[in-house]
Amino acid sequence: MAKTELLNLRKEYDDVIAVDDISITLEDGEFLVLLGPSGCGKSTTLRMIAGLETATAGDIRVGGEVVNDQAPAERDFALVFQQVALYPHMSVQNNISSPLRAAKLDADTIERRVLKTAKLLNIEELLDRRPSELSGGQQQRVAIGRALVREPRAFLLDEPFSKLDQKLRIQLQKELKQLQGEMEITTVFVTHDQEEAMVLADRIAVMDEGSLQQIDPPENIYQKPANKFVADFIGNPTMNFFDASIEDRGLKIEGEIYSEWNRSVRHASIDSMAARPEDIVLSESRTTESMLTATVSLIEMRGSTAYFVCQFDSRELTVLKKNDHDDISEGDTVALSFDFEAVNLFDSNGKLVNVTESAVRQS
Ligand code: ADP
Repeated sequence: MAKTELLNLRKEYDDVIAVDDISITLEDGEFLVLLGPSGCGKSTTLRMIAGLETATAGDIRVGGEVVNDQAPAERDFALVFQQVALYPHMSVQNNISSPLRAAKLDADTIERRVLKTAKLLNIEELLDRRPSELSGGQQQRVAIGRALVREPRAFLLDEPFSKLDQKLRIQLQKELKQLQGEMEITTVFVTHDQEEAMVLADRIAVMDEGSLQQIDPPENIYQKPANKFVADFIGNPTMNFFDASIEDRGLKIEGEIYSEWNRSVRHASIDSMAARPEDIVLSESRTTESMLTATVSLIEMRGSTAYFVCQFDSRELTVLKKNDHDDISEGDTVALSFDFEAVNLFDSNGKLVNVTESAVRQS
């Protein structure tokens, strides 16, 4: 286990810049998730850490030592990919023990480590089976076991659960998180699935077009997205965006002034506001709080929660349906107000603007 640093890491393929100046410091034992849309450079970053790709520029440091020129085996990282590659003719026991046998550890140590790993992964009963006698989830557990049994310096995973069905994926996410915590192993996990990232990560690194957009704990990524890309990418349903500006008389949203605005913004160029579905409140008729009107076009059920899809100014907004909304139906005109503690404001470059309570206006 070791502190792992990516320093100004860059990868070019002919005319494609796959990874553009990424710098991240992973603390010892941290679970970092690389998240972003397909093609944003997640796998390339992971493969450079693993030593499967050479960086065009920048350094990878592990425990203070630059490892750029080390072969994958020398780096002593464990890798697990989406495609499980187990030895088909070997039992689970032998699959898991293969890296220890290759390292010529003594038989007692091998047996002890394999049993410990199998126990952690709940596959003790499967040790005598062949891979063909296992389900997809069990195969992936064995692959994880084989990767971790030699107690590597870091654990690198590239979309390991994306081929599994939803229920199994959730189960394995839970197990991996627990295992990673118990082993305190520095981990980098690649996914395009934001929910998976939220469940697993100590910190999420959100990437777009090769560059790092934000690196933060999941709750910060959700509540304080650093820019409009992250705001739009994170959350399902997505955030609702509005034109906004700060005027002398208050916060102006889509032409309506909210005069109760009592936060100071030392920033001239507020350009937009983003509100999550849970940060908008609907009411049947305009109240002193309400700002805009919209029409409910659809009530969308999603298990125990539901959303109002509303038509506003020729676009759709999504609002979380709350218990006190029960008398609102499809086709109704509703008034919208906002939870101004929770909404985010962005400048004309799409960057988050921090707002603070204004002592002057509150007193
Ligand atoms: P992600 O893992 O986020 O889906 P990748 O890291 O696989 O993204 O790819 C990032 C970019 O680099 C993409 O534009 C992809 O087409 C390009 N790329 C990846 N590998 C190669 C390669 N071996 N040769 C050329 N271009 C590549």
